[in-house]
Order: sequence, then C-alpha cells, then structure tokens
Amino acid sequence: MKRYRKDITTWILIILFLTILIIIYNEQKNDRYIDTGKNTAPPEKLDPVVAAKTSQLLKKSSQQGIDVVITEKVRSIKRQNKLYEQGRLSDEKVVTYAKGGESYHNYGLAVDYALRNKDGEIIWNINYDGNNNGKSDWFEVAEIAKELGFEWGGDWSKFKDYPHLQMDFGLSIRQLKKGLRPSHDQNEK
Ligand SMILES: [Zn+2]
Repeated sequence: MKRYRKDITTWILIILFLTILIIIYNEQKNDRYIDTGKNTAPPEKLDPVVAAKTSQLLKKSSQQGIDVVITEKVRSIKRQNKLYEQGRLSDEKVVTYAKGGESYHNYGLAVDYALRNKDGEIIWNINYDGNNNGKSDWFEVAEIAKELGFEWGGDWSKFKDYPHLQMDFGLSIRQLKKGLRPSHDQNEK
C-alpha cells in the first residue's frame, strides 16, 4: 500500500513537470507568431526574411555563374484561383494543387525561380548547365536555397514544383488562414 502511494506521487510529479514544460513551450512558440486576426487581408509584400534570403540566393547563385530570375513572389488569392482553374477547366497543364488561400505564395512566404541563359532568355530547363561545371544549374540553385533555409518544391513527392521555394516558419496554411503570421527577431534578417 505504501509502495503504491509512492508510485502515485511520482506520477503526479511527472505530470506536473510535463504540464509546465508544455506551457513554457507554447509560450515560446507564440513568440514566433503574431495573431493578426481572422479577417486580416493577406500581405501584399514578401515576408522580410524571405525577401532577404531571396536576395542572398540571387547573389550566391551569381557567384556560381548562374543567373537566377524570380518569376513570382506574392500571389493574390484571386490569381491563385485562376491558376488552380488552369488544367481543370481547360486542356492546359495543371500548374498548382493549391486553391486561393492555400498556397504559401498567398502569404508572401514563397517565391518561384527560373534561369536566364546566355542569350538573355528566361528558361525553365532543369538540365541546363550554363556555368559548365557538369551540374544542372537548376539543382545547384535549389541546393543553395536549401542551405539558406528554403524548402524546395522539387523535393515534394506528390507534385514536384521545381521552380518553387518557400519558408513556412512553422506555420501551417490553416494557421495562416486564421491570421497567424511569422514574427521575426531583428537579427534573423
Ligand atoms: Zn511557387
């Protein structure tokens, strides 16, 4: 009986400890988000950290002899819905699986890239090796982007989106829809 009571005390202590840990974790987590409310319109500009990392990506790629072009940044919900219709209401190719409000582009957290070849043309050829180092420029850019903290659409298993780079800062689309936005430390940029 005494032994049993000791076990209960231990369990209560463990549960108490875990509860405190969860509370601390949640408070820290909330520091990284700002709750702007459900009715907040999506941003019209790129998130400042995503913008800074995108500039770094262009710079680092250019140092490797690769000319990267950003073809898409923030996308309005209306335009996202238009893109979603493509390939579904017409015979065109399906370009996205996300409806309006379902893409990280809608929240300024994603960019799309392409390459510019020596003739100055924008190309989407993932095998192009303009800097002649035996590696595809497209994949080299993806590697640099991942080092900078981007998630690359080319790594997705379901729908490979080779031009797509995003940073979610731990926020799901569901949370973004509810008005949560990443909150950045000044030194993060
Ligand atoms: Zn994209």
